[in-house]
Amino acid sequence: MSAYYGENSFGVSSFVGNAVGWYTIPYSSGTCSYNTFATAAKNAAQAAGVSLSGYNHFVYFFPGISACGWAGLSNVGGNPSNSWINGYNDSYVISHELGHAIGMYHASSLNCGSQQIDDSCTLSEYGDPYDDMGASWIHRHLSAAHKYQLGWGKVQTVTSSGIYTIYPQETANTNTQILKIAKPNSGEAYYIEYRQPIGFDTSLPSNMTNVSVHVFGGAQSQRLDMSPDGNFNDSSLYDGASFVDNANGITITQISHSAVSAVVQVTMNGQTCNKSAPNVNLLPVSQSGSSGQALNYSVSVKNNDNSACGITSFNLSSVVPAGFNSSFNLPTLNISPGSTVSTGLVMTSGAGILDGSYNFTVSAADSSDSNHQSSTTGSYILFTPVPDTTPPIVSVTNPTNGAKITAANIIISVSATDNVKVTKVEISVDNILQVSDVSSPYSHKWNTKKISSGAHTISAKAFDAAGNSSVSSIQITK
Ligand SMILES: [Zn+2]
Repeated sequence: MSAYYGENSFGVSSFVGNAVGWYTIPYSSGTCSYNTFATAAKNAAQAAGVSLSGYNHFVYFFPGISACGWAGLSNVGGNPSNSWINGYNDSYVISHELGHAIGMYHASSLNCGSQQIDDSCTLSEYGDPYDDMGASWIHRHLSAAHKYQLGWGKVQTVTSSGIYTIYPQETANTNTQILKIAKPNSGEAYYIEYRQPIGFDTSLPSNMTNVSVHVFGGAQSQRLDMSPDGNFNDSSLYDGASFVDNANGITITQISHSAVSAVVQVTMNGQTCNKSAPNVNLLPVSQSGSSGQALNYSVSVKNNDNSACGITSFNLSSVVPAGFNSSFNLPTLNISPGSTVSTGLVMTSGAGILDGSYNFTVSAADSSDSNHQSSTTGSYILFTPVPDTTPPIVSVTNPTNGAKITAANIIISVSATDNVKVTKVEISVDNILQVSDVSSPYSHKWNTKKISSGAHTISAKAFDAAGNSSVSSIQITK
């Protein structure tokens, strides 16, 4: 088992450990209580003097019991991880479970019927017959996707068309062993490998000593069938055969292969341009303004063409009600496939139009093909504001009318309200302005020491934004 991982990792990784037991634990084999079995096994080992500290992975072996419907079971990842072996003291099964323990999910297959890849494929969990994490049932090398996941092997990321050479993935190599090609429509990537009958792959069938393609996005690796017939035992390419992904414009052709390497041609972005109508959105959809007012809207256009199309120029146009004017900040938007670009729209109402809600339409059309166009509707709600002629209501609340002042300092307090908003309150004594207060509470600290004995007038004048005002006064004596 350790030799298997040593060969797969080109000597980078191996397992070192100890086996202890057997221990008898007081549980029935009639129930598959594997977590309970693990705890009991650890307790029994510690009771026998075994120190369990410092281990990254625990594997629990027990005689096969039918209550557990599996050969082995494991956490995916974890430190320490836990794995269970149900009577299969077999290096392949142990390697599989420890593969989970170090982070790998299963080696699956993706059956796309008569296609190599499309959008209606079926995943078979254990469907890769050439990976220990699938259903090889004898040791085989891990696929390129899993080696990539574990950081084993020389990876080359392909971003442009060209001829690429891949070296066998069974032995260490300073040259490329794995080609990684992004699969944009799913966010995954293709992992291209080349296998030879070396080491744990010695018994690989001769039709599989070729280039294979896996899809991987972080969970299961997915072997694709290059000769799509649902049989993954002959799922490799051969010289002259191609893998074609039309949706992403990727073609991979195996040109030649030898004991040393395989040569493939990768063609990218070879797909044809498919144009679609854009999306047009208005923000806000509706807003209010008075006669003659210019209102600002934002128009956004999304180009829905596929990535094989170039940048498209979209011409903006509008249909507005009689008496309205519209103008776009940018009347033409140049947008690449999949992107969204916005510009401003100014809508102005004319004079003499009745109050009401007025709809207008904004359209974006492909300048090279006006069939690819979309529209959206917005509205301008026109209203004539009613002038504010109501003055504020104001009163002096402290001191009280007729009061006799004895204190040296008096707080003059004023109450003011308005049907819209009070903008200012002026407090005066004997017609001399003391303070102009723009926020409630309206007040003034009045020093009475310097005023003469006798009668005095305190007045408050409140204003609103329309310029309406009102005054209220009280008399006091000192
Ligand atoms: Zn498994």
